[in-house]
Amino acid sequence: MQQQIVTILGATGSIGSSTLDVIKRHPERYQVYALSAASQIDKLIAACELHRPQHAVVLDEVNAELLSQGLRARGIDTAVSFGPQALIDISIAAEVTTVMAAIVGAAGMSATLAAAKAGKRVLLANKETLVLAGALFMDAVSQSGCVLLPIDSEHNAIFQALPDSYRENPYQSSLSAAGIERILLTASGGPFRTRDINTFPQITVAEAVKHPNWSMGRKISVDSASMMNKGLEVIEARWLFNAPAEHIQVVVHPQSVVHSMVQYRDGSVLAQLGSPDMRTPIAYGLAYPERIEAGVKALDLFAVGRLDFSPPDFERFPCLGLAFAALKEGGAAPAVLNAANEVAVAAFLNEEILFTDIPRVIESALSRLSTLAALSIDDLMAVDAETRQFAHFEIQQKTVRC
Ligand code: NDP
Ligand code: MG
Repeated sequence: MQQQIVTILGATGSIGSSTLDVIKRHPERYQVYALSAASQIDKLIAACELHRPQHAVVLDEVNAELLSQGLRARGIDTAVSFGPQALIDISIAAEVTTVMAAIVGAAGMSATLAAAKAGKRVLLANKETLVLAGALFMDAVSQSGCVLLPIDSEHNAIFQALPDSYRENPYQSSLSAAGIERILLTASGGPFRTRDINTFPQITVAEAVKHPNWSMGRKISVDSASMMNKGLEVIEARWLFNAPAEHIQVVVHPQSVVHSMVQYRDGSVLAQLGSPDMRTPIAYGLAYPERIEAGVKALDLFAVGRLDFSPPDFERFPCLGLAFAALKEGGAAPAVLNAANEVAVAAFLNEEILFTDIPRVIESALSRLSTLAALSIDDLMAVDAETRQFAHFEIQQKTVRC
């Protein structure tokens, strides 16, 4: 067994912390090369103290100075740098074998793409990379031949339920040639699955970030509450598994025990089940094709008792329909969807707009901007920037009206 040398992008987040927890259990298998964060400096210092990485990267110079002081005070000789190029550098360094892509949002794209181009083993949590630049990212994966392992629990479940031959090169395989009829993408339905729809404008930030089954970062928690998360995951599945939208069925499953399924032509449905704990897909990605201990509580089916399934409610969750529409439209539309959603969710978290304004901002951006050209990464970055500007303007206008 060759030791893996790991960079964790977004080490202070929910996925980053869970990754460090799994790594800590297997020091003989994994060595941390670099950790990144935006601004949670104390948490990053604690992680550096424990894992002694060679490099730590933060967002800007001010945080880099704080980090350097903190590390010096504890006698830790981790080198400190900051900014987007530093994130790329720790993702492509020759020593690195494995990159966990766990930055939230489009901010994670450049370094994740660089890791794929450099042929690293990429553990992909940052779904926004695939929404923003799915075709270009998967082309980079194909060209470099890098091993890409989905960490998002649903996609990890699907990956586990696919035939061995499909797993070797999912992007260039075909569902129908593999005897697959449909991918069944499960969704918990979030905290507002049964809430009176007339009270949606009164939804508070505290209510939206409180997911019934999973403990996650704030942005993805709001995405789960609006079901935009499932929309982003449909787009993610489209790229990861070369799966046309009409072969992806969203299935609401409130218990979050069945993490997703693959339905075959002969009537078989293969599912992956487990406790809702991200350390399972993280451990799977780290150890693939082996299995390692992840600190996850064994699933107690008797305690679970029952598993429920129902179709999604597109009226209650308009973001889901917007994501399907953007995927169907293609071109720049998914990039517009992603950027408008990021800005709208941040504004909701800052209490600048209502929960029900989130789909309004996205719809308005999609209707104005989805025809922009989006062939290259530079085009996509320009679409991302223009959409953010437009969405901020829309939100300001709404605030003025309030
Ligand atoms: P968190 O918000 O908990 O963590 C995000 C991480 O990214 C933190 O380390 C944060 O640093 C860093 N970060 C934030 N903004 C920037 C930026 N502009 N530049 C560089 N780094 C930045 O998110 P999660 O861990 O919940 O999610 C991470 C990704 O994984 C997301 O794409 C999400 O969709 C995906 N995912 C998450 C799941 C979960 O269970 N949490 C499940 C499936 C997918 P700091 O802490 O210093 O702010
Ligand atoms: Mg998921």
